[in-house]
Amino acid sequence: MNVTNRRNTGIRIAPDAVDDFDGAATPRGRAGNRRADEEHFPPNPPTCFWIGCSDYPAASEIEGESASTIIFHDNIANLVPSTDINCLSAMHYAVESCCVKNIVICGHYGCRGVAAAVGNHKFDFLSNWLNPVVRAAAKYRFLLDGIADTSDRLDALCELNVIEQVAAASRTTAVRDAWESGQSLAVRGLIYDRHNRLVEDFQVRVSEIDSATEHEAAIATLAKRWNIRRKI
Ligand SMILES: [Zn+2]
Repeated sequence: MNVTNRRNTGIRIAPDAVDDFDGAATPRGRAGNRRADEEHFPPNPPTCFWIGCSDYPAASEIEGESASTIIFHDNIANLVPSTDINCLSAMHYAVESCCVKNIVICGHYGCRGVAAAVGNHKFDFLSNWLNPVVRAAAKYRFLLDGIADTSDRLDALCELNVIEQVAAASRTTAVRDAWESGQSLAVRGLIYDRHNRLVEDFQVRVSEIDSATEHEAAIATLAKRWNIRRKI
């Protein structure tokens, strides 16, 4: 399983991007019972499940105590496909067994996976994986068409992809079961800019089952930032 719990790696991350990753929960079952394997968890139990992109994992920029409490999972274009048993299993482990308080979807500008999804290339096996990005581009074509510059349009799609993956994560059984049981859990979206080595939190956060309002607000904020004046 493509999950690692890295320690003290990388350089830095914007402080406010991890400021509420504290408050580690002692690993327990959802009912609050002491787990038989509790003694096997590390001294600082994970508090965050982080999905990043394989071609430039922003997670490598995180250092210090923050890194030691994050479970990292990377794939091409930081996706949460409903058919990816690997990603869903890792998320289930993080939410159910580790009781993490945050799930982070972290994309990055200039993502080659996102670019490949909308580029002119022959269909190959990667096209199957990148279908969620293709669907996001089609869904928000009315919005993307309002951005003249090609590079800017790709960056906007990178952001849209993160927003869509936050929505996808909020629909998983792991997250919905956690919310229904009253477990404290937020799903949030970040995007990494490799040029200034900072992570921007563009306010995609959901923390309850009815997350449609959060999603719509995130799209509206994105459209405003890119100066898109068309009706959303
Ligand atoms: Zn990427």
